[in-house]
Amino acid sequence: MGTWKDIFAMKIADMHLTEPWTLQEDETLKVHVLRPSWKEFVQRRALGRFRCSQCFHEWSSAKAHVLFHARRWQGWGMVWMRAFRQACRRCPDPQLEEPEFSQETMTRLLHNLVVKILKYFYHVSVQPSDLLEVVLDAPVMGPHNSTRCKGCQLGICRELRLAPASDPWEPLMDADKARTHRALKHQDMRHSATPTHRPCPFTSNFPWKHCCCISITLLCILAVFLFVLLYFIEK
Ligand SMILES: [Zn+2]
Ligand SMILES: [Zn+2]
Repeated sequence: MGTWKDIFAMKIADMHLTEPWTLQEDETLKVHVLRPSWKEFVQRRALGRFRCSQCFHEWSSAKAHVLFHARRWQGWGMVWMRAFRQACRRCPDPQLEEPEFSQETMTRLLHNLVVKILKYFYHVSVQPSDLLEVVLDAPVMGPHNSTRCKGCQLGICRELRLAPASDPWEPLMDADKARTHRALKHQDMRHSATPTHRPCPFTSNFPWKHCCCISITLLCILAVFLFVLLYFIEK
């Protein structure tokens, strides 16, 4: 955990934040469950590496989520973080293993966290280009194993998959909004019980509009072609 803290302190200094901020890990942190005046930031789709403590099998996942809860109070700031664990698919009774991230991933992730802190706690104007893309620096093979993912069990993977990909740092949650979201989350939890990550073709994600446009264009081209063909046959 030392590295997370070190990089966070470095980023705080880099961005000229003079108030003291601390970062601590909390394995009990829950999405959308916030005390008053706390804010929530979620990093979806970071590349995490896992290693089974029983059989030593190693795997990578592009769906390693990191959750942050932050608060500024009386001249100092506090961040709690939780990286969601995954379990080995080869062991019958596996333990949930903590993800490991590359230095580059941690640096980019904490850069984005400090940018969001500046925006939401110090009202510094921030552009989308100030956020760094947390790139997947290695190919990930195979589908996401939902039955062995803590994020899936808590309904986070599904919720994040449905959210727009334009800003990886949303949903940002205020403590006030958290209550209504918690009610919605209960519905999500019921849905996420089915262990699948395959998108359903009948959901709103499917580009019906796009397909209709292509079909109409093709029909028009076909009509023109038939018209020209008939014209020459008549001649
Ligand atoms: Zn194992
Ligand atoms: Zn998952």
